Amino acid sequence: MLVSGFDTISDQQQPIRLLKAFLRKGTIPHALLFSGIEGVGKRTVALYFAMACLCRQDDENPRRPQSQNAHEKAGEDRLYTRLNDPCTRCRTCRRIESGNHPDVIHIQPSGAFIRIGQIRSLCETLSLKPLEDGLRVVIISNAQTMNAEAGNALLKVLEEPPERTILVLTALQTSDLLPTVVSRCQQVRFNPVTAASIARLLIEKEKVPPQSAGIIAALAHGSVAKAKKMAKTDWVAKRGWLLSALGLDHCGNAAPSPRSGMAFAEKLASDKQALEDSLEVIKTYLRDVLVFAHAPHMVINQDMQAQIKAAASRIPASLVLDRFRSITAAERAVYANANLRLTLEVMAMRLMGQYHDG
Ligand SMILES: [Zn+2]
Repeated sequence: MLVSGFDTISDQQQPIRLLKAFLRKGTIPHALLFSGIEGVGKRTVALYFAMACLCRQDDENPRRPQSQNAHEKAGEDRLYTRLNDPCTRCRTCRRIESGNHPDVIHIQPSGAFIRIGQIRSLCETLSLKPLEDGLRVVIISNAQTMNAEAGNALLKVLEEPPERTILVLTALQTSDLLPTVVSRCQQVRFNPVTAASIARLLIEKEKVPPQSAGIIAALAHGSVAKAKKMAKTDWVAKRGWLLSALGLDHCGNAAPSPRSGMAFAEKLASDKQALEDSLEVIKTYLRDVLVFAHAPHMVINQDMQAQIKAAASRIPASLVLDRFRSITAAERAVYANANLRLTLEVMAMRLMGQYHDG
């Protein structure tokens, strides 16, 4: 069977079940709010939802037995396709997918924010009737980037919903939005994607070798988008470099010199974009060393079992924990805009066991 529409989304059975129920019953709320971390499929589901609202597969395949509901043409009912899942192949679905349907409107941040001008021009459009005879769907991505002024302008639309119009807002968390906006939307919560699903997706769709896929999936913290971005880096090789530069791959007994600590900090600081992920790789390894004694099956770097076992038997847990803390301290300092090179040098020294200041 060809997998299309909602079935292509991993690990979001719960929100999708809710949306399908709205579609089936023809009771779609005027405003929906999809919340969840970045990269779990909120925007894609919003797009499939718009397709399901407008899909015309029955019109294009008249010989296909029509559902009983398709014959109900009275009143508002004819607006709803009553389709559980879009066909993704009819002309309407294809126009939506390519962003060329006049009644499916996308609003997304221009730069870092959704600006008041964007919402004002949306309000003007919404004051007119939809251009075609079905529903109109407005998708506002990353609605948390609206400032209060834009949020208040949108609130007017939510208070007096325009005819035949459904708004879908997406946001990382509802607390980033005006409470008055949140309270007028039906909330739909998206889950982080499981590491197993991410690994499978990386192997099948991105052709990532299984060993790397496992590491990336563990580091992506439930975000498919983050995993795909990470898949561009060879994390097995990078992990090897990070751990050996710090002497962590041979249990920290190699005593790298202060010079190598400075070189390490310099190299790490030169790629600030990857810094967060690099630190996560080191933390994950230290976590594995701690976890190994009690739950070896929970080790994330499964391919390094032998090194992790050796490290776990030789380094006291308190020391491993201390090294772990030196990374979280560095992360906090970087977040607070401290001197990057200096912060990373201190961290490297502490990880190498040459610097103790508590
Ligand atoms: Zn369709």
